[in-house]
Amino acid sequence: MSWRSPTERPLRERTKLDRADSRRHHQSMLLQHLFTDGPASRADLARSTGLTRVTVSDLVAGLIEEGLVAELGAPAESRVGKPPTLIGLVADAKHVVAIDLSVDDQVVGAVLTLTGEVVARESRPLAGRRGGDAVAAVEELAAHLVAQSDRPLLGIGVATPGVVSRDGVVVDAPNLGWHDVPLAARLRDALGHAAYVANDANTAVVGEYTFGGGDEGGLMLMRLSTGVGAGLVLGGAVLHGHHGAAGEIGHVVVDPDGDDCACGRRGCLETFLAVPRLRRRIAAATAEGAGADEVLAAAGRTLGEAVAPVVAALNLGELVLSGPADLVDPLARVAGDTVRARVMPVTAEEFVVRAAKLGDDGVLVGATGLVLAGELGVS
Ligand SMILES: [Zn+2]
Repeated sequence: MSWRSPTERPLRERTKLDRADSRRHHQSMLLQHLFTDGPASRADLARSTGLTRVTVSDLVAGLIEEGLVAELGAPAESRVGKPPTLIGLVADAKHVVAIDLSVDDQVVGAVLTLTGEVVARESRPLAGRRGGDAVAAVEELAAHLVAQSDRPLLGIGVATPGVVSRDGVVVDAPNLGWHDVPLAARLRDALGHAAYVANDANTAVVGEYTFGGGDEGGLMLMRLSTGVGAGLVLGGAVLHGHHGAAGEIGHVVVDPDGDDCACGRRGCLETFLAVPRLRRRIAAATAEGAGADEVLAAAGRTLGEAVAPVVAALNLGELVLSGPADLVDPLARVAGDTVRARVMPVTAEEFVVRAAKLGDDGVLVGATGLVLAGELGVS
């Protein structure tokens, strides 16, 4: 057990690189620039990174040899003199396999390019498999997707519910029956590729923050799936918390006499909002002649009551809900009203609850980001 101060990591924190490996570090600087700002000339790259022209030319030659970047020719608007040749990232030079374990009783996977475009996707039913069987299901789908790719593989990224250590050990994921499962190491050993594992809500909130227009004023993304987890971005940084379990609001008890929860307690917020439970409740209500609206309005109020203190304490600007649209949209409306009615006007004024812009692919894109950060030092 290591004691860490509860400091936040900058979103764009680079992977820890060996200090001696400055060439790789410098390559990462160039790749980061090309990822963030698009194609650039060697001179632009030298200016923006502070490296010498000679060093940049040498690094670019190496990256071209690796196939990660290519010369794109001169920009059309070049004026007099010898036009500079632009260097650009080759988005499909390598592929990433991303796996999302947060969807109800499924293993969802995809092959993506380096810029997060889905090339192929496949989902398989988890069929209630837990523990070692669930690990095997992840290995099987990952192996299948690796075989689907016709490019060199950069690595495998997995987003899972539960508490995950920074080195890819799933500390606790009750819905999958995982406790201290070294998932990243297992995948690395089984498939022979680099593998990274992180909490699905943290993965999704980074995706939403980076690609979904989240602002720095405070964003909480709550992911409604088999379970309920949340990720928080405050001041441009993902919150990890004292033991890496920040955002686990799904297991706050809101009704001590409520239904049994996967964590062993009763009446956790998750028992009101997990997708399978909501679907069952809606089916039961419909059978009795009531509608989905009533079920979702009640769940939305419970959600609003549970998050209002968090919204107030952190002065959050947005709560983003990620999950099936037919559930998320009505929940967002009611939860927003409930929170606004319970917090100070100054907090309520600009607070919004909305659906995630990236939808369910946000988790897969975020999982791709894990691999990019780990292998290329790009985020
Ligand atoms: Zn619970």
